Amino acid sequence: MRVYTCAFCGRPIPPGTGIMYVRADGTVLRFCSRKCFVSLVKYGRDPRRQAWVRKESRKAKAKSQK
Ligand SMILES: [Zn+2]
Repeated sequence: MRVYTCAFCGRPIPPGTGIMYVRADGTVLRFCSRKCFVSLVKYGRDPRRQAWVRKESRKAKAKSQK
């Protein structure tokens, strides 16, 4: 089974969890959580400007290096 990464925070999404969102133009976006979904779709936030996204990506990076 394929493990997708979150379109907002970049974390891997375990199979069977998360949200798949398809835009009207056919773009498929996958999110790990509702938090990421509303941040991008509802509020149009920039992931690079979110402190908690940078924190999570730093955590994921440290994990992959071990
Ligand atoms: Zn996410």
